[in-house]
Amino acid sequence: MEYLESVNPYDGKSLEKYKIFSDDDIDKVLAKTEQVFQNWKNVSVEHRSGLLKKLAKALLKNKKSYAQLMSKEMGKPVNQGIAEIEKCAWACDFYAKNAVGFLADDLIDTEADESFVSYDPIGCVLAIMPWNFPFWQVIRFAAPTLTAGNTVILKHASNVPGCSLALQELFLSAGYPEGSFQSLIADHQKLESIIGNSIVQGVTLTGSEKAGRAIAAQAGKHLKKCVMELGGNNACIVWEDADLDKYMDTMVMARMQNTGQSCIAAKRFIVVETIYEEFLIKFTKRVQDLKSGDPLDKHTNIGVMAREDLAKTLEEQVKDSLDKGAQVKIGNKRDGAYYEPTVLTGVLPGMPAFDEELFGPVAAVVKAKDRKEAVVMAANSKFGLGSMLFTEDIKSARKIIGDIPDGAFFINEMVKSDPRLPFGGTKASGFGRELSMEGILEFVNKKTVYIR
Ligand code: NAP
Repeated sequence: MEYLESVNPYDGKSLEKYKIFSDDDIDKVLAKTEQVFQNWKNVSVEHRSGLLKKLAKALLKNKKSYAQLMSKEMGKPVNQGIAEIEKCAWACDFYAKNAVGFLADDLIDTEADESFVSYDPIGCVLAIMPWNFPFWQVIRFAAPTLTAGNTVILKHASNVPGCSLALQELFLSAGYPEGSFQSLIADHQKLESIIGNSIVQGVTLTGSEKAGRAIAAQAGKHLKKCVMELGGNNACIVWEDADLDKYMDTMVMARMQNTGQSCIAAKRFIVVETIYEEFLIKFTKRVQDLKSGDPLDKHTNIGVMAREDLAKTLEEQVKDSLDKGAQVKIGNKRDGAYYEPTVLTGVLPGMPAFDEELFGPVAAVVKAKDRKEAVVMAANSKFGLGSMLFTEDIKSARKIIGDIPDGAFFINEMVKSDPRLPFGGTKASGFGRELSMEGILEFVNKKTVYIR
């Protein structure tokens, strides 16, 4: 295959074809990144932070066109795309304000005249990214990583090449040196040799567990530092004293935003039986109120899934769950890449709707006999991205923090990323952290300096 074709999942029409990079093209990208790094690593953090401010401005200036591009390439409702770009600008502003502090030498008192940790850039970091938040996933990694003095090569998902090139253009337009951020148009078969190249010093992947196992093995083979931001199967625990009226919109949004295609979505609603019927009535009503439609229409809440094959995979997982005894409460019709918002009940361990990640607008509702059983069921997952709990009993909620083996635990709020807070998973959801101070320090050499 010589071209990557981007196809609009809403109408199945071809948008554009992009030439796939040859081995020669890839060698040039690698040589360029190394050459740029030799200067970029010596640029002050203050200067790099100034560029972040320009990046934030450029994002906001183009937010409509970027949102439309995402709608066309992967079906995201346009208003959600605008919110995504605004969030990218927020992350840039956050690092613009804080990077100097995060990267400052860390003095440590010893018997030396002076001893400290200096946070040096490591070189080129390869980013392998998914299509579900085509701008956010890239910016939340690249903004801090470039600010730390590294260079970036992006291998974006094959269905969003337009977003990939728009991102390269964005960094250039904000004043970043040409070659500090480069987009590769390539499918993932080329990645192993790139990871093995001595110019590449680190790898970050945001994507599925399957891709994580492949890329982490390649990074391990070549002894390259890596960060894995992988899939999730977050539980949303609802205790019997939850304020359903206050939080129902949050719970529905936690499952259905981005047409259900979010790693941190609430995928399993584990509800204590005394509130189960009331929860189900209110939850299904709100899900039915969501407006499906053209992703480019600003009133649309549910667009189409990013590709028809992804909708078919979801259909299979639901069918398998139904064969094992789950029931459809509402929804469950597929038309091309469109999947009707769906609520499943009677979901139990052993069904795909409980054990696997359902990456689309399907909520699995599970009944638990009491608070304790709900927490045990929530933790019963090979994934560990995050859990949420809705209750008015914050004192008891605090006591179970240690029982949640995930990267995040949100009480009376959906699990969400925030530039100020670290983000990442445990178990099959991966390792390493993005955002906050932890994120900017993932790809640096934490060098011990000792002066006598
Ligand atoms: P994906 O199929 O794993 O693809 C992600 C990236 O990895 C793409 O660039 C893809 O390239 C590449 N890739 C796929 N298989 C690979 C392999 N065997 N070897 C090397 N590279 C490979 O995931 P997706 O469908 O784009 O995104 C959805 C998944 O990402 C979900 O599981 C979701 O939970 C997860 N996700 C996690 C986070 C997080 O922060 N933890 C955030 C967003 C999404 P090609 O497109 O060329 O195949």
